[in-house]
Amino acid sequence: MTTRHVELAIVGAGPAGLSAALQAKAAGVNVVVIDENERPGGQIFRQPPAAFQIADKNRLGRDFARGRKLLDAVREAEICIESGITVWNATSSTLSCCRTDRSWDITSDAILLATGAYDRPVPLPGWTLPGVFTSGGVQTMLKSQRVLAGRRILLAGTGPLNLVLANQLAEAGATVVAVLELARPRLHELAALALGPWELLSDGIGYVTNLVRRNIPLMRGWTLIEARGSDHVESAVIGRVDRDWRSIKGTERVIEVDTICLGYGLVPSTELSRLIGCDHRYDAQLGGWVPTHDDYMESSIPSVFVAGDGSGVAGSLVAIEEGRIAGLRAAWRLRKIDDVAFRRLTAAPLKRLRQLNRFRAVLDGLSAPRAGLFERMTDDTVICRCEEASLGDCRQAVERGAVSLTELKPGLRVGMGMCQARICGPTLVEVVARLTGRTPSSIMPFTPRPPVKPIPLAALLKQEPVE
Ligand SMILES: Cc1cc2nc3c(=O)[nH]c(=O)nc-3n(C[C@H](O)[C@H](O)[C@H](O)COP(=O)(O)OP(=O)(O)OC[C@H]3O[C@@H](n4cnc5c(N)ncnc54)[C@H](O)[C@@H]3O)c2cc1C
Repeated sequence: MTTRHVELAIVGAGPAGLSAALQAKAAGVNVVVIDENERPGGQIFRQPPAAFQIADKNRLGRDFARGRKLLDAVREAEICIESGITVWNATSSTLSCCRTDRSWDITSDAILLATGAYDRPVPLPGWTLPGVFTSGGVQTMLKSQRVLAGRRILLAGTGPLNLVLANQLAEAGATVVAVLELARPRLHELAALALGPWELLSDGIGYVTNLVRRNIPLMRGWTLIEARGSDHVESAVIGRVDRDWRSIKGTERVIEVDTICLGYGLVPSTELSRLIGCDHRYDAQLGGWVPTHDDYMESSIPSVFVAGDGSGVAGSLVAIEEGRIAGLRAAWRLRKIDDVAFRRLTAAPLKRLRQLNRFRAVLDGLSAPRAGLFERMTDDTVICRCEEASLGDCRQAVERGAVSLTELKPGLRVGMGMCQARICGPTLVEVVARLTGRTPSSIMPFTPRPPVKPIPLAALLKQEPVE
């Protein structure tokens, strides 16, 4: 395997990774940012392919315009970004990279994992029907390819992404039938949200106002119970929920749709931090298992930093501040800045992070999974889509004595398919906890193994020449 060396290697060219790179580079650190996407920006600032001609940039939305500023700064700073490259293995000083059928190692004095998050899958009857998507998936189709997933679209779940997406879909010409939101904020929660950062508040107000203007119902305290159809989704059974998100019998309604977006929040991408051996803890509000870190985003392993949604889902503004702090701390560790400069430069991001975290705690508290969320599955609801293992299969395995995810594996092969547990893993933590009468925090996630993402076997044989 060919190898090259840098001072700081960053995985992830989203807001966290790019903000970190800017700070580190300004301090004189030799830095490289690696991302599997073809263009930098991460999820929120996702760009269309370079070959697309953009006639009217305004139609790409506010997030794209905000992202442009960050991307312009990165270009001006001449930061080395290596796009289209998957990091498939890692130690605390080496990243194994792959592009198409080639593989090579990058060694570094420090590593920052800014790997973001992915949609939280929540199985329910009918969720494997064609036409049922995750909200993030539908948004990615729209943002990157300008493709609408359907015409009559229902959004269900919880959290701000569904509000954003409903606006984007309507703007792109879809009929948004309704947005079902599980959470119903109480008065004191609304008051706490109203004191949040203006940038987020004005976005939120704008999204809700636009729904009203377009006659799109935002139904708080409602959920999707079942997706129905023969070979494609044709209708959705929806119903009211109580404060624990349990369905209230007798409130069911059927509505005709051709597409359903499921958006139940995000789960941090922690494959690499777990592979490296960083300590993790369970925090439902941050999306599940997250790497522990100190105030300066350094993980339990010295010189391995984490930032952004991969260190706990908290949105792009938090990701930017965490990235800045991590980049500066890496520069300090690499002796590019002294204590005085470090304290001066981190004062503002640390202050802003404290403000943002207070707001996020309220927002995330509203959308953190509650008991009823996983009660809509029936015994024949598929949980592991790669291996087609159902809730009933898991129940039988637990009755035979399985008490952990690892013990479900031999009989059911759960987590061993193409998605490598990204789809079934978070649900199985909840399911095993419920079936064994324990808390999710006591159920360890699957142990990640390299390659953490699918790569061609040929890549392990061919070496990329070191530039
Ligand atoms: C699908 C989706 C849609 C979202 N849409 C919105 C929205 O519309 N509005 C909003 O406010 N927030 C949205 N969010 C949340 C918001 O994007 C995040 O809060 C913010 O982008 C976090 O920034 P980040 O830098 O931590 O991670 P991200 O922006 O997610 O960037 C992480 C990057 O790491 C790369 N990566 C991960 N693992 C590897 C690997 N092994 N090898 C190489 N590269 C890797 C990914 O390709 C990605 O580009 C969305 C999140 C998701 C998951």
